Amino acid sequence: MSGLRVIVGCKRVIDYAVKIRVKPDKMGVVTEGVKHSMNPFDEIAIEEAIRMKEKKIASEVIAVSCGPPQCQETLRTAMAMGADKAIHVELDAKQAETIQPLHVAKILAKISQEEKADVIIVGKQAIDGDCNQTGQMTAALLDWPQATFASEVIKNNGDLTVTREVDGGLETIKVKLPAVITADLRLNEPRYATLPNIMKAKKKPLAKKKASDYGVDLTPTHQILSVEDPPVREAGQKLETTEDLVAKLREAGLVPS
Ligand code: AMP
Repeated sequence: MSGLRVIVGCKRVIDYAVKIRVKPDKMGVVTEGVKHSMNPFDEIAIEEAIRMKEKKIASEVIAVSCGPPQCQETLRTAMAMGADKAIHVELDAKQAETIQPLHVAKILAKISQEEKADVIIVGKQAIDGDCNQTGQMTAALLDWPQATFASEVIKNNGDLTVTREVDGGLETIKVKLPAVITADLRLNEPRYATLPNIMKAKKKPLAKKKASDYGVDLTPTHQILSVEDPPVREAGQKLETTEDLVAKLREAGLVPS
């Protein structure tokens, strides 16, 4: 069997280290002038695909990003890490704001068919919308098995053995190929792109597409009514003795008097 063809979803999101600010109209968060990066779980997904290629399990790694023109930087990063080529599904500002996991899943499913992919790896969730839906929906649309929250992926013959992070432990499952994997935090530690590889990535192929090229209608199915900041924590009080603490708790009615 020749190597696997691997598609990886790479979403451009507000950098994890940025302090998020809600827009004054409470309809979203401020994105202008804010540092963006590849979704951290997608760096892990790309890393896993590249390791598959280095182990000669995969033959080609294709990075896909649906979003505004700046996603090309995200895709160049994926290619500098080691992806062979990239597909940018370009969205206008409005579409980029309202696109939902089902839309992305439809696009990924279509691209996977066109590219004759054997594996799709996406992050377990995008840190902006926290949806945790795209991988699962893509698997459902393609009728492929899914191995979500992966912390280890091993290929044996026509199967993948995947260890999954479940509540309080690990679950190991076997999935037949083709399959969808969603990457969890402990799957690997993504590499940094080196300067020579950043230079090489500039010459790798990056195809520009539209959602309509894949027959996907991006009309949203829900409407955001309001976005709120988390409640501000009230300042605490320092007390000298345990007796003071008990007195305060009594005052607040938190212990019987
Ligand atoms: P979500 O279901 O939105 O939490 O996203 C889960 C994963 O799907 C992300 O970590 C990405 O790998 C992939 N994904 C979601 N949205 C996009 C997008 N606009 N472009 C590329 N990949 C995406």
